[in-house]
Amino acid sequence: MLIRRARLPDDRVVDIRVDERIVEVADRLDPLDAEQAIDADAAVVLPGLHDHHLHLRAMAAALDSLVVGPPDVRTKAQLAQALKFAEPGPDGWIRAIGYHASVAGELDREQLDTLVAGAPVRIQHRSGAMWILNSAALTRVGLADHPDGRLHSADDWADALPRRVTALADITHRLAGYGVTGITDATPDLTADDVVTLSLAHKRGEIPQRLHFLAPGKRILHDDRLDVDELIGWVGDHHDGDVPVALHCVTLAQLVVALTALRSAGIHPQDRIEHAAVVPDDMIADLAEAGVTVVTQPNFVAERGEHYLRDVPTDDHPQLWRVASLLRAGIPLAASTDAPFGGMDPWSAMRAAVHRSTPGGEVLGLDERISAQEALRLFLGHPDRPSVPRTVDVGQPGDLIVLTPGADVETLASDMVATTIIGGRVS
Ligand SMILES: [Zn+2]
Repeated sequence: MLIRRARLPDDRVVDIRVDERIVEVADRLDPLDAEQAIDADAAVVLPGLHDHHLHLRAMAAALDSLVVGPPDVRTKAQLAQALKFAEPGPDGWIRAIGYHASVAGELDREQLDTLVAGAPVRIQHRSGAMWILNSAALTRVGLADHPDGRLHSADDWADALPRRVTALADITHRLAGYGVTGITDATPDLTADDVVTLSLAHKRGEIPQRLHFLAPGKRILHDDRLDVDELIGWVGDHHDGDVPVALHCVTLAQLVVALTALRSAGIHPQDRIEHAAVVPDDMIADLAEAGVTVVTQPNFVAERGEHYLRDVPTDDHPQLWRVASLLRAGIPLAASTDAPFGGMDPWSAMRAAVHRSTPGGEVLGLDERISAQEALRLFLGHPDRPSVPRTVDVGQPGDLIVLTPGADVETLASDMVATTIIGGRVS
């Protein structure tokens, strides 16, 4: 297809011929026979956004799940109310997401039974790494004797949970509206079947975006079962098969163990650390020296900042969700939303990286703010090289977004995206 009168980041206005890749960029191109042409009307054209870490299946499930965490639900009474009026799905299950202990403490099966006795209920913790099931639900999945009903993603039970088949088209349509042309699914327990299912959905056009998977090299680390030697072996085994790893690090202990394991096993050029939610000053140089890519989520500052301000000691605030200091140290960096655990709008994540405003209007990590252009680049990387931005040049992927005429990129406003083009086709 042909995009006429497109404004490049250097302010030149050109015509762009785009297919799977960008074929031609010139002052003036004539349309070929039967070629689709759109007029950008001198609006800015950018590479499409890539969300480097999200969870498609969970996003689809979240569309029709009950939210039982802040800000929607903040107290035990509100939780009881929400569950009482919850509509079970067609399979009889009540699915709830977004739970946090600030609502009603560390929930277990017994407490949940007092709230809902009859229908099977599963509540997902907002970290995505833990579920709480009531007794009816535990019986349904063959775990009737489970002591507290608190199931961790590292345990081998996930396959027992019935999965809802949800149309992904809704999610991917919304993503295209934000200008997202590529996604990396970061779900650690994706099976070969899941990958095939998602790839087929991609083929059928339900997922028009370029699709990249972190599984099987994705691993969530848990503070209560960190084992450096075991992790060194696991990383080494993956590297032996030329499979990069992506280690999920949200605490300091997890980061220390992950970095130790990576240094000891050796680093694959595509290895990643997911989140790096806590990075003390003295670990920045270690990370830079290791050269491992960090994929972070500044949106959590805007979404959960109140909790951090309250629950994390003030002296540790500068360590949270760093961006500017990692860039300054030369650490390969990219951003993502972690949807559905974070909001799915990448522009809102970029604005969070620029302003670092919490929901209450305070600033968390003043020195970690970056410019709008830097924030944008964090979402322009290649799927397998997240820190290397794509550009609007011949030979680059044919994934572009056309902004509305007159839109100022610096505002990072979500509604600037007029047209999303993936592989030379309007999505
Ligand atoms: Zn995630």
